Parts: sequence; structure tokens; C-alpha cells
Amino acid sequence: MQSRQQRRAKLKEYAGLVSRKGIDLRQNDSHYLWSVMAETRMLLDILQGSSRQRASEAARRMHELYELSAQNNPKETGLACRKGCALCCRLTITSACAPEIFLIARHVRALPEQEREAKIASIRLAAEPAEDGRMRSCGLLVNNSCSIYEKRPGACRAYTSMSLKDCEDADQGKPVNFARAEIPLRNRTAHSYALSAALKALNLPHDYYEFRSALRMAIDNPDAEERWLAGEDVFAGVQRDPGPQVQALELLIAGATGKELPAGVG
Ligand code: SF4
Repeated sequence: MQSRQQRRAKLKEYAGLVSRKGIDLRQNDSHYLWSVMAETRMLLDILQGSSRQRASEAARRMHELYELSAQNNPKETGLACRKGCALCCRLTITSACAPEIFLIARHVRALPEQEREAKIASIRLAAEPAEDGRMRSCGLLVNNSCSIYEKRPGACRAYTSMSLKDCEDADQGKPVNFARAEIPLRNRTAHSYALSAALKALNLPHDYYEFRSALRMAIDNPDAEERWLAGEDVFAGVQRDPGPQVQALELLIAGATGKELPAGVG
């Protein structure tokens, strides 16, 4: 069994590795677990800071580490996704956690006035059902490209398809059993678990919200991030799911806070 000092040293070592190269998704379970625990610690440090924007700062860091991991792991082969194809931005019921939504809302509010007003109108419209009852395209889609690409939610980063036909069928409302690329999904899981665990450690909600409606609420309420950090449910009424399994999050919190891990783990 490792002493508290040894566990802290290991966490520090992995924090250094993750900061330099992201999470190595090819490594064994122990390496992966310590990497995610180290990222949990890093995000916890941001969330425990005094910035009024610390939730969106944590999301920004999570996205950076996702991209770093994507650069340093093998590339997925056989993807059907191509630049200029935005079927998934029309199809997907994207969900995002609160910090990811606040990060985008901040970005939109900082745009030059004309662009900002156009985007806010588009975000508001996208949260309304279309005349035929179907979901509208994401309000951030412009000329078949994501207009907030650097800030897009983790769900969009990892959403990949191995078959264009599947996407086209789904776009026409046909039932499809999508084949997803494994590496982006594993990457997303690692980083979203780290952020969820850091939020849970501070008793902040780690739910995932229906993106279009939640983004409109964050845009319409400029102090939403501060109110959410103070414990208010600023997304009341928005469809949500509870995010990653609580048991897994508790393990990450234990590791990130230097607590003893169950026998045989880590
Ligand atoms: S945020 Fe960007 S990538 Fe995600 S659905 Fe909207 S337009 Fe597409």
C-alpha cells in the first residue's frame, strides 16, 4: 500500500505528464487512471480559485487537454467525417455540462457587436423547434462550419462517424445504429470524467444539459456562471442527464485528493 506522500508524488508526476502530452490512451489501466486522477486535481485547483469565471476556465483547460491527448495518440482511421460536412450539427441532440456552456456564452458575449447580435439571434432560434417539429441545426453552425470551433463542447469534439450513409440515413429520420470511432470516445470519456469528478468534489452539478436550450439560457442571463457557482440551478427546466457514474467519480476524487485507494486499484 502506498503512503499518502507516495500517492501525492505520483499525482504530481502524472500531472506533469498530462500537462505535457495529454492522456496516453494506449497505456494500461493504472496509467490511465492516474492520468485522469491527475487531471481531476488540475481542474479542481481551477475550480477552487477565486475567479468568477472559474467554471468556464476549467472547461477551457479540459478542452486543451483533450486536444493535446488527440495530438499525441494514434489517429483514428476510416472516419467518414470531412471538413464541410455538418450533418451531425443538424442531427445530434448534443449535450454539454455547465462549464462548457458558460465558456461558449462568454465567447459569444465577447464578439464584436454585429457578429454577437447575429449569433445570439441564431442561438435563440435554434432552441425553438422547427415548423415540422424537428430540431433545428445548432445555432453556432455558419456555412456548414462550427463558428466557435475552439470552444465547442466535448460531445462535438468526439462525435465521429465511420459511415456517411449512417449520417445521411439519420438525417432523413431513418433509425440508425451508428458505429463510432473508439479513440475520440475514449479520449472524451477521460476528460469529461475528470471535469465531472472535480465538479462533484465541490458539490457542483455535473449534469449534462440539452445544449441548445441551456446555451440560450446562459446567453440570456449574463451572470449565469456566477449564480451557478453560488449554487443556483440556472438551467431549471432544461432536459438533463446525470453524467458519469457516481462510483467512478468518487474513485477519481479519492485519488485527486490524496486519499487511500481501494485495494488492487491504481
Ligand atoms: S457547437 Fe459547433 S460542432 Fe457542436 S453542434 Fe454546434 S456547430 Fe456543430
